[in-house]
Amino acid sequence: MPIAYCSECDWERRIDDEASAELNQAMIDHYVETGHSVEQRAESDERRVDREPEL
Ligand SMILES: [Zn+2]
Repeated sequence: MPIAYCSECDWERRIDDEASAELNQAMIDHYVETGHSVEQRAESDERRVDREPEL
């Protein structure tokens, strides 16, 4: 489950593996809209445990 996040604002997007193309599109959309560079990483590398709503 990859996560895309923006280092310049609070934008963040988390999507199931099967929809990674959708995540890519979301990253592109955010870049086009804001000019921010979006980063992506796998959730397994994520150390944060603060706020993670599991719905
Ligand atoms: Zn941003």
